[in-house]
Amino acid sequence: MRDGVFCIKVYGCQMNVYDGDRLRGAMTSLGWTETADALDADAVIFVTCSIRDKAEQKVISELGRFRPLWEKNKRPKVTLIGCMAQRTGANLARRFPWVRVVAGPRHMGDVPALIAESMDGGVFLRLDEDPSEMADLECAPLPRGNPHKAFITIAHGCDQFCSYCIVPYVRGRFASRLREDVLNEARGLVSRGVREITLIGQNVNTYGKDFGNGTCKNYRFADLLEEVSEISGLRRVRFTTSHPVDFSGDILDVMKRRANVCPGINLPVQAGSDKVLREMNRKYTRAEYLATVGRIRETLPEVGLSTDLIVGFPGESREEFEESVSLIEEARFDLVHSAAYSPREGTPAAARSDQIAPPERARRLSKINEVQSRISSEINRGQIGRVIEVLLDEPAPKGEGLLQGRTVTDKVVLVKAPAEMTGRFRSVRITDASPWCLEGELL
Ligand code: SF4
Repeated sequence: MRDGVFCIKVYGCQMNVYDGDRLRGAMTSLGWTETADALDADAVIFVTCSIRDKAEQKVISELGRFRPLWEKNKRPKVTLIGCMAQRTGANLARRFPWVRVVAGPRHMGDVPALIAESMDGGVFLRLDEDPSEMADLECAPLPRGNPHKAFITIAHGCDQFCSYCIVPYVRGRFASRLREDVLNEARGLVSRGVREITLIGQNVNTYGKDFGNGTCKNYRFADLLEEVSEISGLRRVRFTTSHPVDFSGDILDVMKRRANVCPGINLPVQAGSDKVLREMNRKYTRAEYLATVGRIRETLPEVGLSTDLIVGFPGESREEFEESVSLIEEARFDLVHSAAYSPREGTPAAARSDQIAPPERARRLSKINEVQSRISSEINRGQIGRVIEVLLDEPAPKGEGLLQGRTVTDKVVLVKAPAEMTGRFRSVRITDASPWCLEGELL
C-alpha cells in the first residue's frame, strides 16, 4: 500500500480530536509521516464539524487555499471526514476537485486504505446511509499533545433530537461501544503512561441503554465509570457530555465513592425559559434542571459545574432570554459555554419563520458573557490562598515560562514551572484569578 506525508486538521469537539488521534495512529502505523504544514503534504485530512455555520466556513476557506498547488502539481489530495463531510461532503467533492475521499463519522475504518488508494487517482465517497453500519478504526489514539492525558469515545451518535441540533442527522443514532473495547483501550493507554482519561460522547449518561438482552443488559454508564476508575495507575477519570434527563443518581454514587473520578461536570441547560426548553425538545423544565443541580451539589459540595447555553433560539422573546440570564445568576456555574443560535439546515428549528436577527443574537450573547464573567470571577477569586493539586499539562499559550494544568474540578491553572514538569501532578497555592483561569505557585 502506498505511503507518503500526511497532515491532519481537526475542527470541533473532543470526539473529533479523538478521531484525529486515532487516524494519526493508523496512518503512522501504515508507514506514513506526519507534517504540520498542509502545503507540504501528499494527503491532507480534515476532521470536520457541523455544529455551527462558522465551523463549516472555516473548512471551506481552507479548502480554497489548495487551488494553485492543485492546478500546478495535482496535490495534495484532500480527505474530509466527520459531521460536515456527512452533511455536505459530496457537494464539496464536486466543488473542489482536490477533495478525493469523503467519509461519514461511521466510516472511519475505511479512511486509511481509501487515502492510499486515492493517491493513484479516483474519488471515494463513504457516507453513512445505514445507521446500524459501523466501520470503526480498530486503532488506539496517538495523542499529539500531552502523552499523559487521553480521550476515549464510549458511544457514537445521539437519539435526543434537540430541535436545533444537527448531530443525530450527521453522527446517526446512539450506539454504545462494547464495554470490553472501552476497558481494553483504557488499560492500554494507562500501560503507555496515560494518567488521566476522559470518557466522551454526545450523551455519555445513556451508555449501555442499547445493550439489548445480552450479558450487559443492565450495564450502565455508572458501571463503566466505576470499572475504568478501578484501573490501577489511573489517577484521574473525567466524562463529558451529560444530558440532564439521564443524569441518574448511580453516577453521583460512583463519583462520591471513587476518589479518582473528578468532580467536574458539564451539564448543558441550553436555555432558562420552559417555553424555549420545550421548543428545543430538551425534555426537562427549568425547575427540574435546577433540582438536578441541587442533587449534584448536595452529593458533591466541591463540584465544578459548567453548562452550555444557546441565546437567540427562534421565537425566544426578550423576557424569555432574561430567564436564561436569571438562571445563570441562580445556578452560579463555574463556566458557561455560550453560543448564539446558528440555524442548521435540516433541523426543525432552522425551518422556523421566527428567527431572531443576528445583531439581537449578538447582543444577547454579550449580555450572557458579561454576567457570567462576573460570576466566574467571584467563584475563582474564592480559590485564592487555597492549595490545589494540578496535573501540569502543557506550556501555557501565553508562554513566559508558564505551564498550564487543570484541577480536579476542571479549572485551568497557570503556574511558573520548568517544561520538564509537564505531565506531573503538583500541589499549587492559588495566588490570583480571572474569570477564565487561576494562577498559582508551586509548593
Ligand atoms: S443531546 Fe441534543 S444537543 Fe446534544 S448531541 Fe444530542 S441532539 Fe445534539
